[in-house]
Amino acid sequence: MKWRGRRGSGNIIDRRRMGGRVSGRRGVAVGGAGGFGLLAIVVVGYFLGVDLTPLLDEGQMQTGGGGEITAADDEAAQFVSVTLADTEEIWADIFQSELDATYDPAELVLFKGATQSACGGASAATGPFYCPPEERIFLDTGFFTTLERQLGARGDFAAAYVVAHEVAHHVQNELGVLDEVNAVRQRSDEATSNALSVRIELQADCFSGIWARRAEAMFGSLEPGDIEEAMNAAARIGDDTLQREASRTVRPDSFTHGSSEQRQRWFATGYERGSVAACDTFATDRL
Ligand SMILES: [Zn+2]
Repeated sequence: MKWRGRRGSGNIIDRRRMGGRVSGRRGVAVGGAGGFGLLAIVVVGYFLGVDLTPLLDEGQMQTGGGGEITAADDEAAQFVSVTLADTEEIWADIFQSELDATYDPAELVLFKGATQSACGGASAATGPFYCPPEERIFLDTGFFTTLERQLGARGDFAAAYVVAHEVAHHVQNELGVLDEVNAVRQRSDEATSNALSVRIELQADCFSGIWARRAEAMFGSLEPGDIEEAMNAAARIGDDTLQREASRTVRPDSFTHGSSEQRQRWFATGYERGSVAACDTFATDRL
């Protein structure tokens, strides 16, 4: 992806040099340090993150050096800022042309190590997530290393897809989809709630595909291999793949994000068809 030297977003909140901010929260006893991480993931998992629970259970997560900011973190921060700016322009255009509405962009909080959100504590182990009541995305700049080294999703466009996916949850929030579906989830049994979560997530993947298509058309920012990087990332964070990699039994009724095949297919649907209407994962029998 061509991103160096391009315009960044004005909606970045950089908390990476505020390391002491959540020290009080860390002290809450919930079963030791690992317990805190697990609790955070369970809470955040409901709030639309990349689900890293299988990795955590296996003790495979390496949360890096906490608050230490590296050159790679700074590069990641610039990359995220440019990618976010692209999503703002793209969704403003789609809202106007396709939905006759105005897009109100999300803010994106960059942190390193740990921070606090209205959806619970965020740590390096939680993975990026969107917090609907705050209308903010939370992202630890160390996550891209996890994405590449532990999840096997290489390439800058894999990282851009993750940012676009979280932005897509904000788009769903703006469209009223999240409120509507979460209200139903709250009075549903677990299997039904999970199934609805999968539809939310696959729609976000489809929206990410729309974003990729527009980025190509509006900015010419895609390079050969970029779509393949996003498709590989979609496969690597599919629920069946994550469960299998963690040596767990693959249980489709426990899926909250969709299988690798589904995530790839819905990203591809968004990319190929390019319209919000093509991403109605709630109106199809075949996910
Ligand atoms: Zn998601």
